[in-house]
This record gives sequence, C-alpha cells and structure tokens, in this order.
Amino acid sequence: MSLRLVANWKLNGSREFNNKWVDEFLKNFNSQNFPSIGIAPTSIYIDHLQVALGDHAIKIGSQNIDIEEAGARTGEISASMIKDSGCTFCIIGHSERRMLFYETNQQIGQKLIQANNNSLTPILCIGESEEENQHNITFNVLETQIIEVLNDVPDLHSLIIAYEPVWAIGSGKTPNPEEINSVHEMIKDVVQSRFPKIGLESVLYGGSVNFKNASSLFKQQAIDGALIGGASLDGREFALIANVFNELRE
Ligand code: PEP
Repeated sequence: MSLRLVANWKLNGSREFNNKWVDEFLKNFNSQNFPSIGIAPTSIYIDHLQVALGDHAIKIGSQNIDIEEAGARTGEISASMIKDSGCTFCIIGHSERRMLFYETNQQIGQKLIQANNNSLTPILCIGESEEENQHNITFNVLETQIIEVLNDVPDLHSLIIAYEPVWAIGSGKTPNPEEINSVHEMIKDVVQSRFPKIGLESVLYGGSVNFKNASSLFKQQAIDGALIGGASLDGREFALIANVFNELRE
C-alpha cells in the first residue's frame, strides 16, 4: 500500500526521542502494514531515525526541500540530498512554510519538480484560512492553489495532496468528516481533469487528527489517510491511529 499515514514532527525531536518513539510505536502497532506509514523528522535526524527503525519498512521523508539542486544557498537541503539519505518522500508547501517563510505557489511548484527529478513522492499541502472558510470560498481557494502550483509542473510520476485547513492545524478544531470528504472529491476531480499527466496517488487530510476522531475520518471514502502533527509525537497514539486506519481500510 502507498503512503497513507504520515507523521510531521515539525521542529521537535532528539536521538532520545527517536528511540522512545520507535519503542512505543512498535509496542502498540498491531499490523504489518509498515509501508503505509511515513515519518518526517527534522532532516538532521533522518539518519538516526533510520537506525532506530531497523528493518521495519516505515518510510522516512523530509519536511521541506529547496527549489534548487545545489549552489550558494546557505542552510538549504536539496531533494537529491534527501534522496541520498534514504528518504522516499518530502512534504512541500506546508502552511507553516507558506506563512512563516513566505513560500509562494510558484516556489512550491519548483520544489515539486525537484522532488520528481529525484524520485521523491511529494506531499503537497493545500488549505484555506478560517476567514476563507467562513466566507464559503474553500473550493475556490483550493482550486486556485492547485492550479497555481501545478501550472508550470509538466508531469509528476506521483503526487500526494494533503488537505490541511490552516485553522484546523494544531487547534483541536476540524471540519466535519462529510465536508472533508467532499473537499477531497473536489481535489481529485480538479487534478484528474486539469492535469491528467500527474499521477495523483492519494489525498490525505491533516488538521488536529487524533485517536478520538480517526475513525469518523477514515470511514469517509475519499479520505485516503492523514498527515498528523501534534498527535504523531506520541508513538503510542500514532500507532493507535494507524490501527484504526488498518481496521477500516486494510
Ligand atoms: C500539520 O501540521 O501538518 C498538522 C496536521 O498538525 P496537527 O495534526 O497538529 O494539527
């Protein structure tokens, strides 16, 4: 199965954290469906996490990549370096990167090309603000983000989209599962009809997913999985969420 549950650890972690997390996760995960699980630690811990995970085929990815392959760009990490470190995917265009680091849709498109050139599966994050949601313009906002990002991207072997309403991230609030389902249907429809050369693998939901709400989300047919921040920092809770997913979908 392709990647379905992805942990975004953001700016958290340490070697000790990696070891404890793996221990807790393995004690509580009751499936062999490791390849559907991905973890995006901070890039400095990619190597250490690989060692901590041992033979378990959990995928590792980065939280970001640079728009360029190499050059005078102090502090950046390229897609080829992430690939060389053994990663298979990268998160691109997370709302925190858009807001705190002013990433534009055009730069995000460049990053998708870098990921594709290096055989990394990109997880493209899109989402509306609370105000946009209240004004009922979610579909328009998402469609514009998709078109602006993908317009200059010729074709991609694989793409995962994460629908992450900005107001749901880390807030404990989520749209209702039926609303999320219809947004996912719209996203699939827009990508498949406008960009037929792009291999859309799945559409994940992200924003305050936890053990309590996991089953109501995963029962929706167009929600293919989840990108999880806060709740993914606890290896036990992440394993319990994955168990719910596997019971409903495996
Ligand atoms: C995220 O930041 O990608 C995310 C989904 O965070 P949280 O689960 O904490 O809302």
